[in-house]
Amino acid sequence: MAERYHNYVDGRWTRSETGETFETTNPAAPTEVVAEYEQSSAEDANAAVEAAAAAQGEWATTPAPERGAILREAGSILADRNEELTELLTLEEGKTHAEAGGEVQRAIDIFYYYAEKTRDLGGTVKSASGPRTNLYTVAEPVGVAGLVTPWNYPIAIPAWKIAPALATGNAIVLKPAEDAPGVALEIFEALDEAGIPDGVANVVTGFGATAGNAVVTHDEVDAVSFTGSGQVGEMVYEKATDDGKRVQTELGGKNPTVISDSADVEEAAEIVAAGAFGTTGQSCTACSRAIVHTDVYDEFVDAVVEQAESIEIGPGDEYDMGPQVSESELEGTLDYIEIAENEGATLETGGGQPEGERFGDGYYVEPTVFTDVENDFRIAQEEVFGPVLAVIEVADFEEALAAANDVQYGLSASIVTDDHTEAERFVREIEAGVAKVNDKTTGLELHVPFGGVKNSSSETWREQGDAGIDFYTIEKTVYDGF
Ligand code: NAD
Repeated sequence: MAERYHNYVDGRWTRSETGETFETTNPAAPTEVVAEYEQSSAEDANAAVEAAAAAQGEWATTPAPERGAILREAGSILADRNEELTELLTLEEGKTHAEAGGEVQRAIDIFYYYAEKTRDLGGTVKSASGPRTNLYTVAEPVGVAGLVTPWNYPIAIPAWKIAPALATGNAIVLKPAEDAPGVALEIFEALDEAGIPDGVANVVTGFGATAGNAVVTHDEVDAVSFTGSGQVGEMVYEKATDDGKRVQTELGGKNPTVISDSADVEEAAEIVAAGAFGTTGQSCTACSRAIVHTDVYDEFVDAVVEQAESIEIGPGDEYDMGPQVSESELEGTLDYIEIAENEGATLETGGGQPEGERFGDGYYVEPTVFTDVENDFRIAQEEVFGPVLAVIEVADFEEALAAANDVQYGLSASIVTDDHTEAERFVREIEAGVAKVNDKTTGLELHVPFGGVKNSSSETWREQGDAGIDFYTIEKTVYDGF
């Protein structure tokens, strides 16, 4: 029996006023229905925002450590259900069991982290010019936060928006992505059991153009945090800023790893393969370009092809790489493979769907490596969001840096090098929100800021760590001469 989920609005599990639902299916076996959800209308989303607006004032005056205790309890409820949530995530989104388990643990850690942060909320005290004045700042909640999230980290991304927003005294409405909303709804189940007051945390499922649009445009929403594609993100940014809301949008990437002539080539190939093919290439920080010094190019290509070919594809916990999330994502990847071949790139390995009984009708695609890629090819410029790596040959470090920066995106970037001067210059000159040395482009710590530059981000506010607190608070400066 497929799970049946409802919206969570004003402390109650409710049905959509439309009476309509939608289903998710298992990307490894698409005839298998995983769960059924409310197909919410704009009115459902509006009701959620109104509940949030009504509840926010009291939540803001609740002592912060008390808010933290609820977050801590929600984290521990999620921890008790770790295995169940991991399985749901694998079934609905297609990540391997190990990847899904890592993501669920990340969400739990985020709840614990922001629970502790509630003890440190406050402001700063400064010396005043007046003899009797106490001069200080207080960080107040922004108000109601509208949160819209993608399917590719369906529990971690909602968690890294929900936890700091609630910790700082905001009320929230989440609209999770329609491809894999289950684990996000489980967060609300945990918050409900942990005793979150009615109306403080709300979630409506459904489609972007209806429920999502209503959440980001409602008059009573003060802050919008959106993660997703550039196309939707730009539209959301414009609408929400026109309304004077505080907005952050975190969008796509075309993340490079530069391979220096000084690199240990085997290590470089492992780093690139992990970044490119982990999570089936469906990470915003996935490596999709290897920019390789000509002196180590042939050796690197052999090594990365060997890495790609050693990846075992299949469902669940026995394999290294799962399917893509949906038929449309699979088709998108296969289209890009065709585009790359037509552009004149050389297909070294992969390039199609694997064949065999265990793959059934699953949305699998082989880890794919293209060489002879020129920087102006679409495969070198556009986000694929599948396990496809473009290898670009360069004459020297200058050319590598120029190629790395010659894209519209700037999310994550890495270099593999044994040359400290190169590493330093890369960190300084790479146009990216995250720069890594001798590491893969994927993988983030939860207590440092995350976000992109250029078309990867609105560049307004960062997420995670203290930056999460900053986005959801507004400073009041107090001159107290009492
Ligand atoms: P998407 O833009 O299609 O959808 C994201 C969310 O926006 C979904 O919940 C969707 O329902 C909603 N939405 C769609 N239309 C809307 C509208 N008109 N108004 C309001 N909401 C609307 O993205 P996706 O396919 O779910 O996710 C993949 C994309 O997300 C990739 O481009 C990836 O790089 C990006 N991403 C970025 C980060 C980051 O932190 N930079 C992290 C993960 C994913």
